[in-house]
This record gives sequence, structure tokens and C-alpha cells, in this order.
Amino acid sequence: MLFATHLVVAALLARPTRLSSALVVAGAAFPDLVDKPLASLGVFDLFHTVGHSALLLVLVVPIALTGRAGLSVAVGWGSHLFLDALHIVVNGRPTDALFLGWPLVVPPDPLALPPGEFVVYYLWSPSFFLEFLIWGALAVVLARRYRARNAASD
Ligand SMILES: [Zn+2]
Repeated sequence: MLFATHLVVAALLARPTRLSSALVVAGAAFPDLVDKPLASLGVFDLFHTVGHSALLLVLVVPIALTGRAGLSVAVGWGSHLFLDALHIVVNGRPTDALFLGWPLVVPPDPLALPPGEFVVYYLWSPSFFLEFLIWGALAVVLARRYRARNAASD
């Protein structure tokens, strides 16, 4: 899923859960902010590694248990992993979701595209249209908020 969409979903998740929007968004940004540079620098061959591994739960769960701030970061991080796995399955590459088990398991035939080439591959894929729905949900939320503010000021 595109980086900006992760941030939008995090912001949408924060509102009804009453978690910190900034921290949920930060948690959602974390996997790509860690893994994309590592792969771009050649540290790893894959773009879903340390930050995208579900094995990071050994750190994320204790962070979540520290309070609402930690829970906010954990929810954002978890939403990122869920959405990346979902978009991979929606796009017909379910074995690529094995990134969740990195480094214990790795996808047998990963795309391993750098971010720029990934966007070109991704445009008009089934998951890209799923992202349209997410952005549409954001538009509805923003329109309702705008209408509520205008009604309150009348
Ligand atoms: Zn990601």
C-alpha cells in the first residue's frame, strides 16, 4: 500500500478509538521509514524486513502496555502490517505476505521493487482501487467534519 494511504488510515483509526492521532500516524509510518532506507542502502534485499516483521511484536506488545501513547503507536504499526499484507493478497501474491515472518521465513519470489518502480507496478492494480475507497472514506469524514463546523457556527 502506498505510504500516504497508511498515514490516512492511521488518522482515520485514531478518531473513533480516541487514540493520539500523531502517535498512531507515527506508528503507521515506522515500518516504511525503517525498511525502505535499509533496502535502498543495500542492507537487505527485501523492502519488507525489520519494521514489517510480526516478530517485532515482542517489542510492540510491551510498548502497547505502557499506556495510551504506546497503544497508539502499536495500533498504527499493526495497521501498516495488516494493510500491506491485505494489498499483497488482493493483488494475487499471497506468498509475499510471508514478509510477516521475516527473518524466519521469506517470500519465495518477492517483487523486491524499489519505491519508485513499485508505484508504477502498483498503479491500476486491484489494491490500488482499494486505496481509492480508503481515500473516499477520508473525503467523507472531512466533508462531515466541515459540515458540522459550519452548522455549529451558524
Ligand atoms: Zn509497508
